Amino acid sequence: MAIRNPEIKYKELFINNEFVKAESGRTFPVFNPTTGDAICEVSEAGPEDVNKAVAAARKAFSNTAPWRTMDASERARLILKLSDLMERDLCYLASLDTLDNGKPFTESLCDLEYSIKTLRYYAGWCDKIQGSTIPCDGEFMCLTRREPLGVVGQIIPWNYPVMMLAWKWGPALATGCTIVLKSAELTPISSLYVGSLVKEAGFPPGVINIIPGMGPVAGHAIAHHQDIDKVAFTGSTAVGRKIMGAASESNLKRVTMELGGKSPLVVCSDCGDLDEAAELCHTAMFGNHGQNCCAGSRTFVHESIYDEFVKRAVKLAEERPVGDPFDEKTLLGPLVSQTQMERVLGYIEKGKSEGAKLECGGARLGSEGYFVSPTVFSNVTDDMTIAKEEIFGPVQVILKFSSMDEVIKRSNNTEYGLASGIITTNINKAIMYAQAVQAGSVWVNCYDVCLPQTPFGGYKQSGHGRELGKEGLDEYLETKTITIKVPSKLYHS
Ligand code: ADP
Repeated sequence: MAIRNPEIKYKELFINNEFVKAESGRTFPVFNPTTGDAICEVSEAGPEDVNKAVAAARKAFSNTAPWRTMDASERARLILKLSDLMERDLCYLASLDTLDNGKPFTESLCDLEYSIKTLRYYAGWCDKIQGSTIPCDGEFMCLTRREPLGVVGQIIPWNYPVMMLAWKWGPALATGCTIVLKSAELTPISSLYVGSLVKEAGFPPGVINIIPGMGPVAGHAIAHHQDIDKVAFTGSTAVGRKIMGAASESNLKRVTMELGGKSPLVVCSDCGDLDEAAELCHTAMFGNHGQNCCAGSRTFVHESIYDEFVKRAVKLAEERPVGDPFDEKTLLGPLVSQTQMERVLGYIEKGKSEGAKLECGGARLGSEGYFVSPTVFSNVTDDMTIAKEEIFGPVQVILKFSSMDEVIKRSNNTEYGLASGIITTNINKAIMYAQAVQAGSVWVNCYDVCLPQTPFGGYKQSGHGRELGKEGLDEYLETKTITIKVPSKLYHS
């Protein structure tokens, strides 16, 4: 059950298993996007707090610290304990995300369930991370060890507050790294509560540190830090560039990045049931209010079914229940902030002025909170801003195509490459598209099926590296090669 007014129990930085005020004493307000009202003030980490958190994480990573000497199976037990505690407090945590993000409570619940599954998946890896023994020339025996990278900085966005934390913590903890996480300034409260569960689960102090703060201050300090071994970042491409630059200017820390997207979802003439295809494209676009990096944000529809498809898309958009995100029936709550709402409305204006046909929506709803009506544009061409840039809001952009060759070229005609999809009953067509499209994920007759077991990440300017799955672990591991001279007698016996 949703808790409409959840008590905000933790508002301070979580360092060394303790909640502490920022050294500067500074705080920042967190807003409820449904009303625009302030929820609470949260401590704001500055560079000195980043240093404190990194020092705690470094100490927890030292060779003799409990975390490093702990059996891998015990590490798994701690992660499982944390996931059990998150499950115990599922509704409370989901309510926190709905309160400060505005996403419908049903979506927050799904995020939580997925987060728990992700942590459990990675708990299973703890004692299965293996190197190899390598036959080599000469009287040598050679083996590799996969070792944790060290102290990792993790900078997450506001669109999936708990889920992004779980995606990042799972592989970091499974490999034995220690963590300094910076939550997004718009949505810091659920991760602080998870901090209290970290302590309750029994993680040693310093293994996980959580510091809410501003991107250009705390995020900047993490990216430039000399004693952080890796930064994992999810957010905009513009900030991704800054983070890579910071790594190169500081200590060449490793960087993995999951950035923006403008993902094509292709509806072929042989899509089968057109109602189902329209529904799939609708959900691919409007899920999480379109505030989703892998949203199917370019709907390509074959010319032979275009008009019929648009009619269905408009009906679905007009019928999408908008309102109070705590209401079980709501599928579209407010956008996360006034800035985000204004950005989305700006894109809608651009779409209109550049000649796209506004089929429905296109305006702010009400004067309280940051609601934008579900919007559909048809007659969109590739050169329009709304077909090129990431809108990150409830705006469906429907383009027309006539051949597979053409739609493949147009799908790839973007700086992004995060995700893609195709709806067809022709398996050969699906395979051809899946091989030709430049994107980290291809979904055939489904969309946004990101599972803890399957790698996720971007081609081109949608990012570097992969999260989730076995590949997600590699990003947190070093390989050490150990070569041992073997006495020849032994060697030949
Ligand atoms: P969005 O546009 O979705 O808000 P951002 O890329 O701005 O995405 O933010 C994602 C995360 O990156 C947030 O936690 C934010 O605080 C952080 N961030 C923003 N600017 C910087 C920066 N200059 N250095 C490091 N982190 C930053």
